[in-house]
Amino acid sequence: MWEESRKAFYQRQLKNRRKCSQNRKKVVRKISKLDSRIANVRKDATQKFTTEYSKSHAVIVLGNLNIKSMPASAAGTTEMPGKKVKQKSGLNRAILRQGWGELGRQLEYKQLWRGGSVEYQSEAYSSQDCPKCSHRSPLNRRAQDTFECISPDCDFKANDG
Ligand SMILES: [Zn+2]
Repeated sequence: MWEESRKAFYQRQLKNRRKCSQNRKKVVRKISKLDSRIANVRKDATQKFTTEYSKSHAVIVLGNLNIKSMPASAAGTTEMPGKKVKQKSGLNRAILRQGWGELGRQLEYKQLWRGGSVEYQSEAYSSQDCPKCSHRSPLNRRAQDTFECISPDCDFKANDG
């Protein structure tokens, strides 16, 4: 984005300006103008993306961006990830949704408007990585809500349905 390189240019200039000088104030103003431009460009891009995405998907599944923000009790253990998450799915949804922020909010209302839906899933279930031995394979997940590690040295199974 050209606005961002422009901003970086002004920020470099700022270092060479004396504090409280008129020139410095000018540069600061230019930077804040660029900041709001950058924010607008991002917002437009998000709007465009969510509209397109919503048009082409009936169900959108958003994964967990920040699993550490989930309370440990809700996340469960690696051996038994399924049950507790299910019990607290409302809470998880709220947390996951927060992680997606504006993007999740836009996708939700656009999906609602089109009669689709947005679902939130914690990483443990959307991933093809075994949480026990970290073996990665699409075959680990033969159905969307079951996980069965195909590694011969591992017996990990989970069902979140
Ligand atoms: Zn495994």
